Amino acid sequence: MYKPTYELIKRLPKTDLHVHLDGSLRLQTILDLATEQKVKLPTEDKDKLWALINADNAKSLTDYLRAFDITLSVMQTEESLYRAAFELCEDAAAENVWYMEVRYSPMLHMKRGLPLTTIVEAVLAGLRDGKKQFGIRSGLIISALRHTDPKWSLRLAELAVAYKNRGVVGYDLAGAEDGFQARKFAAAFHLIRSNNVNCTAHAGEAFGPESIHQALHDCGAHRIGHGTRLREDGDLLNFIADHRIPIEVCLKSNVQTKAVNSIEEHPIEFYHEYGVRVTLNTDNRLITGTTITDEYMLWANHFNVGVSDVREIIVNGFKSAFQSYRWRQDILSRAIAEMDRVVAEETAKHMQETGDSDQTTTKRDRRGTSQKMEERRRATGEHPVIRHAVEA
Ligand SMILES: [Zn+2]
Repeated sequence: MYKPTYELIKRLPKTDLHVHLDGSLRLQTILDLATEQKVKLPTEDKDKLWALINADNAKSLTDYLRAFDITLSVMQTEESLYRAAFELCEDAAAENVWYMEVRYSPMLHMKRGLPLTTIVEAVLAGLRDGKKQFGIRSGLIISALRHTDPKWSLRLAELAVAYKNRGVVGYDLAGAEDGFQARKFAAAFHLIRSNNVNCTAHAGEAFGPESIHQALHDCGAHRIGHGTRLREDGDLLNFIADHRIPIEVCLKSNVQTKAVNSIEEHPIEFYHEYGVRVTLNTDNRLITGTTITDEYMLWANHFNVGVSDVREIIVNGFKSAFQSYRWRQDILSRAIAEMDRVVAEETAKHMQETGDSDQTTTKRDRRGTSQKMEERRRATGEHPVIRHAVEA
């Protein structure tokens, strides 16, 4: 079976639905902003700064979260928020991310007195200009924080409601999970859902499946951030699989925060084979030291992954976007056509370079769906998604 290569994955259209703005700055940008704003960093040496930020050295989620103190120290102005958002668009577009949902907690950017509205509008402006310049579409998710007073989660929920249809596509609950139950934030989530705003919650990363249960049933989350410990509760796992609730998997970050002991121990393969709607995401490009292509490669290199699996996860990403059904159908049909084109080109190149005559890019997975879909598509020349749209 033809294994997906770095070049192939980089060229394929992708989504990144779980990426924190304050964890995804460029290292050089932190240094530039510190100079401009006269902010004192723990060190001005680029390598030493990286050593402080690099989450490979983290021992727990709490440790991991400390690096954000550094990034947040230079993200207290309108210009810095705009720049962070704009550059994130450039970096994601460079590896062919077609759609990205950027999240952050506006309350962490008020240290120099910026009002919440300016904090949101600066990021939205950066994303808008990022789309104009690099063609990447995006949406903004407002994150409430578990370790803060729940009254803040309500203020942030109001903010998300006000900016719905103006660039904000969802609401999230983030921060230290252990000891801070999701159900304390039920009022904010109620406001969000009453206003038909989409929501997600970090859960099952630093705490067990009861945290995921609360995120789903007390908060009504439409997606689950991480969900790493979902495998500990089979009933909940089935609920999530049956209701097609997307799981936002962030592999490298899970290893760094010790949600899993090693990449090999990650449940991604089981979830995927079982039919859970798994998506792959970066979490924090800078702090985790990753890209979306790296995340796919980490998965492909450590598990039994073929090109058809990569395609399925990519499709899951587009299906799970906090956008309208029609919008998702449209972008998905174009993404599938682009995947067909890129896979055909890369496979031909691979065969030429290696003399490998095995052209198989699909494998029969345990559900048997990808192979069937591929055969049907070859026979009819149609994209399953487009046919489904017509039938519906
Ligand atoms: Zn996260």
